[in-house]
Amino acid sequence: MASFFPAAMENLIDGFASLPGIGRKSAQRLAFHVLSLPQEEADRFANAVLEAKKSVHTCPVCQNLTDGELCPVCASDSRDKTTICVVSEPRDVLSIERSREYHGVYHVLHGALSPMNRVGPDDLRERLERVAQGGVEEVILATNPDTEGDATAMYLSRLLKPFGIRITRLGFGVPVGSNLEYADDATMLKALEGRR
Ligand code: ZN
Repeated sequence: MASFFPAAMENLIDGFASLPGIGRKSAQRLAFHVLSLPQEEADRFANAVLEAKKSVHTCPVCQNLTDGELCPVCASDSRDKTTICVVSEPRDVLSIERSREYHGVYHVLHGALSPMNRVGPDDLRERLERVAQGGVEEVILATNPDTEGDATAMYLSRLLKPFGIRITRLGFGVPVGSNLEYADDATMLKALEGRR
């Protein structure tokens, strides 16, 4: 199919179309929008992508995203390192932090047990080796209250059982099948208090 657009424009459209949830039509709309931006704004946008990609990496302790050596939570002296809250995605950390109720540290799995996304038990085991190093008293399993999240929590609790630590499941109060990301602050507070 012959292209209607200059090659650079096609590249830009391809770039947007490669993003999750963006179809060809939306990609075209976004590309036109970018072209209509003042040069300075377009530069800022492009640089934001480059900068984020260059400077953001995962925290070597909890695997959350950071641009420092450690993430702010792991680097903080005031956080309780004996309690680890296990979440699926970095955005879940944000949801829990917003409640201001949690003072422990995190562990970000970057996925849940998911045959579709090819995340198997071995991937998760590797990601939770930190617990085996000792000093941990409680692990809160805060994966989403959906099928994959529940399966992940079940699997992890079995994996963690031999370590003799307190294992609790967050999700009480968060509607079943929903996403932690969309839980409001009050719900998250209740979920934290009601963990079992
Ligand atoms: Zn960290």
